[in-house]
Amino acid sequence: MNAPSESTRSDPHDDGPTRANETVNAASGATRSDPHGGGPAGGLRAEGIVRRFGGLRAVDGVDLVVPAGAVTAVIGPNGAGKSTLFDCLAGGRVDAGRVYLDGRDVTRLPAHRRARLGLARTFQVVSVFPSLSVVDNLRVAAENRNGSSAAARLLGLPDPARGRTRVAVEAALRRLALTEHAHTPAGELPVGILRMVELARALASSPSVLLLDEPASGLDDAQTDRLRHELRALAADGLAILLVEHDMDLVFGVADTVHVMAAGRIVAAGTPDEIRADERAREVYL
Ligand code: ADP
Ligand code: MG
Repeated sequence: MNAPSESTRSDPHDDGPTRANETVNAASGATRSDPHGGGPAGGLRAEGIVRRFGGLRAVDGVDLVVPAGAVTAVIGPNGAGKSTLFDCLAGGRVDAGRVYLDGRDVTRLPAHRRARLGLARTFQVVSVFPSLSVVDNLRVAAENRNGSSAAARLLGLPDPARGRTRVAVEAALRRLALTEHAHTPAGELPVGILRMVELARALASSPSVLLLDEPASGLDDAQTDRLRHELRALAADGLAILLVEHDMDLVFGVADTVHVMAAGRIVAAGTPDEIRADERAREVYL
């Protein structure tokens, strides 16, 4: 969708606080395009991702492709490393391996820099600003992406990004049927609606890659159905979607490719039909 603008070019000296321990990719030059990177179709690609907590290899050498125009799911038992992998992709520390976003090496970029390049995420635990209205929650996300200037707004100066932000926010509200809640403080809404607010907030930043950590938890059947429908529509619009989810009906009903994770590794990958029939996948999870 949105191509990264010149102004989002990486500064190799700005690694952010979480990168202080980084050694593995110290010579990578951060974000220059890699000819062997994500490929012409775009999306997200991870190679050889390792993340340790003390002696535990929570993610132990994971390769994963999240192509544009498709829903890619990661399933697995509790403690398999799904959320940790997710954090590695979104901008958390990795101990080894590389992450490419639309073909560009973003391994050393912190989360907010990846967000500006088109990577949006939701959290396993809903993390909206409770005192802000729904529309203001979305606005914050969209402004981060569009580079709207709070200073310009306060000083009453013209801000060309503002129009883009408004359009993106209104489209996201409509898309997820949240217009009626636009001015309600997020903290007053039930969890099922908040899940939708989180998704809308991710969409308001006009991402090319969308990472969803258990988006269906707390949703009723009708809301889950709506989510399924929206994920298919978003993939059809060209988004690269990664879904980490426990609701197997949703996963098998929406994913193009399913990866099964156990003890930090991907132990099986394939279409939903292939995974349903896979011995190893059944053994560890299904
Ligand atoms: P999943 O999302 O698949 O349930 P997680 O990625 O949350 O799994 O956890 C993978 C493993 O890493 C678990 O053994 C968990 O206890 C451990 N772990 C996760 N986060 C931390 C952390 N911040 N510190 C120490 N261990 C962690
Ligand atoms: Mg998890």
